[in-house]
Amino acid sequence: KAQVLTFGETMGSIRAAGLLRHGGAMSMSLGGAESNVAIGLARLGHSVRWVGRLGKDEVGKFALRTLCAEGVLTDAVVHDAHRPTGLMLLEKRIADVSRAAYYRAGSAGSALSFEDLAPALDAEPSILHFTGITPALSASASKAAVQAAETARERGITVSFDVNYRAKLWDREDAADALSVLAGLADIVIASEDEIDLLGSSSAHAPEAEVVDGLHARGVRDVIIKRGAEGATAYTADGACHCDAIKVPVVDTVGAGDAFTAGYLSAVLDWETLEERLHRGVTLGAFAVAATGDWENLPARNELSLISSAGTTIR
Ligand code: ATP
Repeated sequence: KAQVLTFGETMGSIRAAGLLRHGGAMSMSLGGAESNVAIGLARLGHSVRWVGRLGKDEVGKFALRTLCAEGVLTDAVVHDAHRPTGLMLLEKRIADVSRAAYYRAGSAGSALSFEDLAPALDAEPSILHFTGITPALSASASKAAVQAAETARERGITVSFDVNYRAKLWDREDAADALSVLAGLADIVIASEDEIDLLGSSSAHAPEAEVVDGLHARGVRDVIIKRGAEGATAYTADGACHCDAIKVPVVDTVGAGDAFTAGYLSAVLDWETLEERLHRGVTLGAFAVAATGDWENLPARNELSLISSAGTTIR
């Protein structure tokens, strides 16, 4: 039985060695916010199921193979014979600025529907995790996100929502409407500093504290704000708690947010304190920024303590 169910679009993530416009060598990995979280949780020993649509093509087979190899349950994946698996191309401009180009319109992943998820939801996971990327993909995916959150809520499954606003997929006004609805259905809302105002009741840029209060009033238990190199802050009914980021040499910041979420949810599953939930989140965030790749460098459970000894050689 899976402790966590997550769903969304997973794609081939093709990383250029230099600038895309110069061509040259590229390497393929797997990209997708929710599957990144699934891999992070699986590495920490949790049982986690990922549901999404993959094309019946070589990139789809690659995605399935990678998720299986990472120990993520893929038995509920839907194979779509009519649409291709999506792609994203990444080029790194400087260490903490990467640029993505999407080739995902009309992809298999974007055709996700609630019917695709329903059987996995019936298996009663403890946590349902999804992101604000899914509602931007298509009308059916957007409906699936709302219905999944509503169903999970009715059944007492903890709902975790990472805002993950993607400016390349939709504009802020459309996003704000859909994302606030989804946030209101969640128990745990995770947002970056520059996303939190999307969840305010008015379209104007609302102050952080006001948005946090509004989310609490709508029943959200934990509101977590990720602050990059400054760490993360959680606001709960029992008070606020801040955890500084762990200082590591930064190689590539892509995937830091998903890593943080995996760490936070892992500690939720372990019934840890708020302080430890944040600490595990920033620890995974530090692993993610310290190496290239969205999820490749995420730790196994017995490696969690490695990062505090960064700079030394373990003999
Ligand atoms: P992304 O969209 O790039 O995945 P995000 O905006 O969702 O990231 P961030 O706040 O950038 O999320 O990063 C998540 C967490 O990762 C932070 O709360 C922090 O703990 C850790 N982190 C991010 N950047 C750094 C850094 N430069 N050094 C150490 N830890 C970092």
